[in-house]
Amino acid sequence: MDLRFYNSMGRQIQAFVPLRAGKAGMYGCGPTVYNYAHIGNLRTYIFEDVLRRSLEYSGYEVTHVMNITDVGHLTDDADEGEDKMEKSARETGRSVWDIAAMYSEAFFHDTDRLNIRRPTIICKATDHIAEMIALVSRLEERGFTYEAGGNIYFSIDKFPAYGKLALLDNQELMAGARIEVDKGKRNPHDFVLWFTKSKFENQTMIWESPWGRGYPGWHLECSAMSMKYLGEQFDIHCGGIDHIPVHHTNEIAQSEAATGKSPWVGYWMHGEFLLMDRGKMSKSKGGFLTLDRLVEEGFKPLDYRYFCLGGHYRSQLKFSFDGLASAASARANLIERLSRLERGRPAEALGSAASDILRGFGDDISEDLNMPRALAGLWNLLKSQDIPDWEKLAVVTQMDRVLGLELLQSGDEEALDAGVTALIEERLAARKVKNFARADEIRDILKGQGILLEDSPDGTRWKRI
Ligand code: AMP
Ligand code: ZN
Repeated sequence: MDLRFYNSMGRQIQAFVPLRAGKAGMYGCGPTVYNYAHIGNLRTYIFEDVLRRSLEYSGYEVTHVMNITDVGHLTDDADEGEDKMEKSARETGRSVWDIAAMYSEAFFHDTDRLNIRRPTIICKATDHIAEMIALVSRLEERGFTYEAGGNIYFSIDKFPAYGKLALLDNQELMAGARIEVDKGKRNPHDFVLWFTKSKFENQTMIWESPWGRGYPGWHLECSAMSMKYLGEQFDIHCGGIDHIPVHHTNEIAQSEAATGKSPWVGYWMHGEFLLMDRGKMSKSKGGFLTLDRLVEEGFKPLDYRYFCLGGHYRSQLKFSFDGLASAASARANLIERLSRLERGRPAEALGSAASDILRGFGDDISEDLNMPRALAGLWNLLKSQDIPDWEKLAVVTQMDRVLGLELLQSGDEEALDAGVTALIEERLAARKVKNFARADEIRDILKGQGILLEDSPDGTRWKRI
């Protein structure tokens, strides 16, 4: 199956050609764990999950890396404001480490319930300070940095390709309109690689570095960790569309400047925003909806997944409880129709009508992940009078590998099982890349949830204790 994706770099749909045949390396910017994820954030992670599942459906072996931002993300993406983690700690009287642990756990609880598969590698910024320092040193050696007022900056004037992702032109760069003036910056778009002058008292997250005790700039972690786990050049980088002008633009500049290799990433894919009636949903501005809130209102997490699949990932999607209710009733209707189908399966090939629908489904995925059309295909399948029940079930089983709607199972027990299965998968992947610390951590997490893992030559089994 030939996949075609819209590449934000160059703004056109292109055939996906990976660096290594049969393998795809993808990196998605993970959550900043200073608060719960809102359903807008979760929309972006659903899109990334559909991307990963589509690659796997098409036969690729995917290495999916996601970071956890537990240091360095300021309240403004462009180096201004306070560290989000420190602010949350101050406001709640808890330690930054407690805050990070609590919201990371809450995040994965949400993503498990949404049937978002756990990334192959999940990496915390605070565990990769050495890699970040090494990256700054490399940039320093190559002449891309300068020091001012105790901070180390990246000089965008030394990197002529700066801004090509965002299509920033010179005028826009000159204007630097929304960026507050940092007197240390030679160019308003220069960005901090390493802070030693903390803007706030008693910062707890600081480390020794060649430039003094301090902490990394936010953009640095994604370059350092993606290259550590995926190599100096890799296939796909994704995130929300808001990351194009600053975060991803800066990630590209520092990565390509450090390695001298271009392009750093082959395909840039960005999910559009979830909108509320009052405009965009934002974590820092408060007033946002969480998955728990939807559950309190009587919805199932997968109703929200269905709601999101109803919009193309590159279109804005307006959230409303009415829209969510329609999604919930559509999903319930699907499950009900499926439960009425005769389950016996003759050992025959699919007939031409079912094959056509399955092929159409593949085409929908291939053409830039067109999930609304894929859902329409699913409905056509179920409404068809000509396709035998067992064929419908066989096709839905295939489709649900990408849709992830648990259409052939339902009930809370299955949702729990899906969470456990996701963790076991992540543990297996961690062991494969010899990340035994993470593998042990997962075993302990599950033990804490009353689940014991048993490894055997046939795989890993689990039981309740
Ligand atoms: P954060 O935890 O703030 O770093 O954001 C996590 C992800 O959610 C990033 O990829 C953002 O681009 C994305 N995001 C933030 N707000 C929205 C929104 N309203 N709709 C969709 N994605 C969003
Ligand atoms: Zn990032």
